[in-house]
Amino acid sequence: MIPFINGLKERVLHGGCITRDEARRLIEIPVSDRDTINHLINAAQEITQKLSSVDADLCSLVNAKSGNCTEDCGFCSQSSHYQTDVNTYEMLTPEQILASGQAAEARGVDRFCVVTAMGVLNDNQFEEVMKGFQLLHTRTKLRLEASIGGLTKDRLERLKTVGVTRINHNLETSPDYYSKIVTTHSFSDRVETIRNCREAGMEVCSGGILGMGETREDRLSLAFELAKLDVEVMPINVLNPRPGTLLEHVEKIEPMEVIKTVAVFRFILPKACLKLGGGREVNLGPYQELAMRAGVNGLIVGGYLTTAGGPVERDREMMERAGYRIPEANGSLSSK
Ligand code: SF4
Repeated sequence: MIPFINGLKERVLHGGCITRDEARRLIEIPVSDRDTINHLINAAQEITQKLSSVDADLCSLVNAKSGNCTEDCGFCSQSSHYQTDVNTYEMLTPEQILASGQAAEARGVDRFCVVTAMGVLNDNQFEEVMKGFQLLHTRTKLRLEASIGGLTKDRLERLKTVGVTRINHNLETSPDYYSKIVTTHSFSDRVETIRNCREAGMEVCSGGILGMGETREDRLSLAFELAKLDVEVMPINVLNPRPGTLLEHVEKIEPMEVIKTVAVFRFILPKACLKLGGGREVNLGPYQELAMRAGVNGLIVGGYLTTAGGPVERDREMMERAGYRIPEANGSLSSK
C-alpha cells in the first residue's frame, strides 16, 4: 500500500488526478493499520503544503436569522420541521450584523460570513442583509462571505457591490444520499446556486457533513462532485446530533475515520482549502491537530450557528503548531 500511496502522491503533485477506484482503495485502509494511515497523512500534508496553502483560512460567522426555516434538512436544529430547543429570532439589524463582525475582527479573524436560516430569503430579508454587508464593507477590513441560501445571478451581482467575494453553499452529502437527509429541495438545486456563483465570478465554499449515516462511497461522491465544481473551499463538518432532529440518534463516526477521510479528500481536491467546521470539538477533541496534519488548512472559529466553539486563540495556536501561518484581520500574515 505504501508504494501505491507514493505513486498517487507523485501524480497529484505533478498535476494529475486520482480515479474513483484509487480513492476507494485509500478510504478502505483500516484505521487500525496505523503505519499506513500515518503514511497517508504525511502524503496529504505534503500535497497541502505544495499545492494548497500553508496560510490558515480562519473564518467566523454570525447567525443573522435563526430558526423557523421552512426546509427539512435532517441534521439541522433550525428547521421548523423538527421540535428542537434552538433559539429563534428574525433577521438581525444591519447594526447588529456590523457589531458581530467588529467583534470577530477584534479577535484577529480576517474572514466573516453572514449566515441566515432560510432556503431562499424574501426581498425584505435580502435587503436587510445587503445593508449589513454595506456596513461591514465600509467599517471593517474583513473579507466578506455570505451563506444565505439559494441565490440567483441578480442577487449575486448585488452582493458583489457590497464587498462579498465568497459564497458558502454546502452540498452536504452525496447525490444518492441527499434525498434521505433533505426532501424540500434537491441536490441539483444546490448545484445550480454553485454554478450561478461561478458565473458571477464568486469564490465558492461548499462542503458537507460527515457522520450522517452515509457510507464511505457517499463521502467519496461528495468530494468528487466538489472537485467537478472546482470549489475553492470545502468545509468539512462532523455531525453533532441535535436533539429533536431527524438525525438525533445517528451513530458517531470515529475520529480516525474522519482524519483518514480528510486525507483522502486532500488527494481528490489538492488545491482547495479544507476547512474544518461544526462538530470538530465534540467529535475530534485532541485529534483536531492531527486533522490539520492530514490536510485541514482552514477552520471555522468562534462558534457555530447553534452550538458553541472553543476559544479562537486556542485554534490559532493549534494551527501554528501544525505548521500554518495565521492571517491578521487586515489580510497580512503573522511571522512564525
Ligand atoms: S440547513 Fe439551512 S436550509 Fe436546511 S433547515 Fe437548516 S437553516 Fe434551513
